[in-house]
Amino acid sequence: MIRAVPPGSTVGVLGSGQLGRMFAIAARRMGYRVHTLSPDVDTPTGQVADVEVRASYDDLDEVREFASRVKVVTFEFENVPAAAAAAAAEFAPVRPRGEVLHTTQNRLREKQFLTRHGFPCVPFRAVASLEDLRSALREIGTPAVLKTAGFGYDGKGQHKIISQGHAAAAWSLLGGHEAVLEAFIDFECELSVVAARGLAGDFAHYGLVKNDHLNHILDMTVAPAPVVESLCREAVEITRGVLETLDVAGVLCVEFFLAKDGRLFINELAPRPHNSGHFTFDACLTSQFEQQLRAVCGLPLGSTELLRPAAMANLLGDLWDHGEPDWSAACAFPEVKLHLYGKLEARPGRKMGHLTALANSGGEAARIAAAAREALTAKQR
Ligand code: AMP
Repeated sequence: MIRAVPPGSTVGVLGSGQLGRMFAIAARRMGYRVHTLSPDVDTPTGQVADVEVRASYDDLDEVREFASRVKVVTFEFENVPAAAAAAAAEFAPVRPRGEVLHTTQNRLREKQFLTRHGFPCVPFRAVASLEDLRSALREIGTPAVLKTAGFGYDGKGQHKIISQGHAAAAWSLLGGHEAVLEAFIDFECELSVVAARGLAGDFAHYGLVKNDHLNHILDMTVAPAPVVESLCREAVEITRGVLETLDVAGVLCVEFFLAKDGRLFINELAPRPHNSGHFTFDACLTSQFEQQLRAVCGLPLGSTELLRPAAMANLLGDLWDHGEPDWSAACAFPEVKLHLYGKLEARPGRKMGHLTALANSGGEAARIAAAAREALTAKQR
């Protein structure tokens, strides 16, 4: 029998960024208390949580103390060391479980998991030396992408290799870290599915959405994705299989490449709410953050119904280059919702907030979101 962690209980979040902040907003709305642990203070999550603990994830005594004060632990940052998840699990259930973190925080382990279970992922080879890289390039062909196996996100720690002649330079740029060589996919577009799985194995998903990236960072998400229904069904079934095989309790996002020939390839997994699911906060009956809360607390999952087509535009630190953006200009679009994460310093490429536009079609929502974002800096130009 599932013992739910009921509203009024305290939930612990490892990590303190915007994902934890939006989780905490959803949790507090439902009457939960939230504790967060990370190495920083006055964080996006800490500003909303009841208690903000500043500690290193490697300080296992602090992690144990943190876990002993909450009823369930989840995370918003998947690079929490496995040892920290294990230490927390001595005192409270960690959901998703530590093994899910372990598999997904390393590209090589993740891809080996996916291929072992027959999920369609980008052709790859493990690379531990320049020799390995040269032979992997012969097998995979060029162009190819060399990525560090651990701690990579938003295109950090990756290099495109155009020809064998670039192997040595790419290998030295990666600093000799364990790596993965992937085939470069000349994709039609990038897509993702955010889904949740409850403690009883119940499953809910937000459908297939389309993601546009700029400089390897998500720029805009459009929901629903403008693709045929059969592709949506295929992507959702792959996602359901991934959550079941990993035995996830929580939210997980599967990012896909749609190749020009119509095939779907998994690019990567994120075992938590995802940037491409931020639109759910305003556009769905139950947001991905509330869904994470329900899943890890053993409550029934909520409806994922999309109330209106939507588009989400990220607000990066670059928007602050010439001073504070003009917030009232974006708020002048009545169908646009503004989210700011409370980050104290704007840096180029740093995710500072997002806008969600709701409209009668995804395309119209994307145009409105783009126009509202443009308006933020129009007077500075
Ligand atoms: P990642 O951090 O691995 O998700 O990569 C960030 C972005 O780089 C992706 O969203 C793609 O736009 C691009 N990218 C990464 N890997 C590949 C690949 N194998 N083929 C084509 N584009 C890629």
